[in-house]
Amino acid sequence: MNFIDTHCHLNISPLLERTNEILDAAAIHDIHKIVVVGIDIATSEIAIKLAEQYPQIYAAAGIHPNDCHKAPDNWENHIVDMLAHPRVVAVGETGLDYYWDESPSDLQKIFFRDHLDLSLATGKPVIIHNRNADQDVMQQVLEHGNSKGVFHCWPAGWDIAKPLLDRGYRISFTGTVTFKKNELVQDVAARMPLERLMLETDSPFLTPVPHRGKRPNEPKYIPYIAEKIADLRGTSVEQVAQTTTSNAEAFFNFGP
Ligand SMILES: [Zn+2]
Repeated sequence: MNFIDTHCHLNISPLLERTNEILDAAAIHDIHKIVVVGIDIATSEIAIKLAEQYPQIYAAAGIHPNDCHKAPDNWENHIVDMLAHPRVVAVGETGLDYYWDESPSDLQKIFFRDHLDLSLATGKPVIIHNRNADQDVMQQVLEHGNSKGVFHCWPAGWDIAKPLLDRGYRISFTGTVTFKKNELVQDVAARMPLERLMLETDSPFLTPVPHRGKRPNEPKYIPYIAEKIADLRGTSVEQVAQTTTSNAEAFFNFGP
């Protein structure tokens, strides 16, 4: 089988110190490509360094909604420069997060819109984070002309997923889809077109069942997420691997 972890943070502690070990374990479990996602300028730069160093790693550059209040005034110049790098395959992560309250929501919305603009301008897809902000995220996305993006770590029900899928967006699932009593999210994983679905770990966070609660999470646990989704859809894990991998290949357009 052949999997892609489309969203993780090998660029932060405690994963950054163990890159070789993590990639070896991932390869043994059939994860052959990994997208490392920036949450601020420094971690976006580290993601690019990793992508230059390891052929299986690609990078995304952006400012996480929880970090926008700390970003320098010229953050956009930095991100634009990074997006020109051939191994940077996406803009992000961006979005809205109303769970933590360090960054005011008005500031988060401005950054989110700027990232959607950058995605549209560069043609590179956007990676969107949404925590406790379903309505505002949906409104901003549907008001914007961009339609090439993925909602990472999908947190909501079909009523929110449907209009975003109709708009052309993709959805990716983390270990949270394996958690008990997460029926809303499992319902979306079961109903949505498999051709629009992708897999991710969001490592080092959100370790899937049966290792839930153990930290750190790692890309090698992708098969647990694939198995759960296969189960929910009544299909084989081979089918989930094949379809989600070709979907991610087309979406990120991985270069050399
Ligand atoms: Zn993330």
